[in-house]
Amino acid sequence: AAQILDGKLISQEIIGDVRARVDACVAAGKRAPSLAVILVGDNPASQVYVGNKKRQCANAGIQSVAYDLPETVTEAELLALVARLNADDSVDGILVQLPLPKHIDAEAIIEMIDPAKDVDGFHPYNMGRLALRLPTLRSCTPRGVMTLLQRTGIQIKGADAVIVGASNIVGRPMALELLLAGATVTVCHRFSKDSAAKAREADIVVAGAGVPGLVKGDWIKPGAVVIDVGINRLPNGKLCGDVEFEAASERASWITPVPGGVGLMTVATLMQNTFDAYLKRNA
Ligand code: NAD
Repeated sequence: AAQILDGKLISQEIIGDVRARVDACVAAGKRAPSLAVILVGDNPASQVYVGNKKRQCANAGIQSVAYDLPETVTEAELLALVARLNADDSVDGILVQLPLPKHIDAEAIIEMIDPAKDVDGFHPYNMGRLALRLPTLRSCTPRGVMTLLQRTGIQIKGADAVIVGASNIVGRPMALELLLAGATVTVCHRFSKDSAAKAREADIVVAGAGVPGLVKGDWIKPGAVVIDVGINRLPNGKLCGDVEFEAASERASWITPVPGGVGLMTVATLMQNTFDAYLKRNA
């Protein structure tokens, strides 16, 4: 049976590391890092994510400042808020929780964020730097997955990696991260002819399609490492990933659980990114 890649333990270590570094800065007379968290509307999943982020800020010693805006906020108002936070020297990171309501162009909002405060790593500047092997602020979920792999001592250089899903927030930056670390990367998506056949060749499988149980046990090569990024709510209210966990566990060497895996790493990485942005801005 597979060993569990412990997102809980490793995320707590990371938050503890950030906390120690923040405490040292504060002890040296500096202000604490500060993260602006913008939430538009009342999407229940977004509320849960934002709640987790604020709680971990408190654990990491990072000040979080909440901007809870009504669903009816206009794009112009949101752009103006981002511009104000860009100009505010006491703000180190700006997080706009996605998705945004349909009447707001999310790309326009992301592009308005100062790249030096883009702690989600979604700005084209930061994504482009990663593509050019010059990473600055890196997207939280893919960076969190890399941390999980690296802290567990999993060999990435030379590994065959298959990513199922090609979104801007998961699959694409994940492909760039694995490529940067020396893996041979294949990206599957909804138009791929045979994702199963690709996955069966992989030493590392990353699932991020948002389809419960998409990745079957027999997609996994014996001994492969399985990273499940999916967070899906079943009709019974339970959370599940994109991987058939039990069946995949019988073949994998390492596997992440859902919940308790990548989701926790994403939030811990947001704390790292906020601290990195703070250090760089106050250097
Ligand atoms: P998305 O809908 O934007 O993208 C899904 C991708 O999967 C697309 O590229 C699509 O082509 C591909 N896809 C869909 N069906 C497929 C199929 N049958 N075979 C192969 N590829 C297929 O979704 P997203 O925003 O990237 O999120 C994906 C999942 O990851 C969701 O479950 C989401 O909740 C989860 N997520 C988790 C975290 C985390 O912190 N763990 C962060 C972000 C997203």
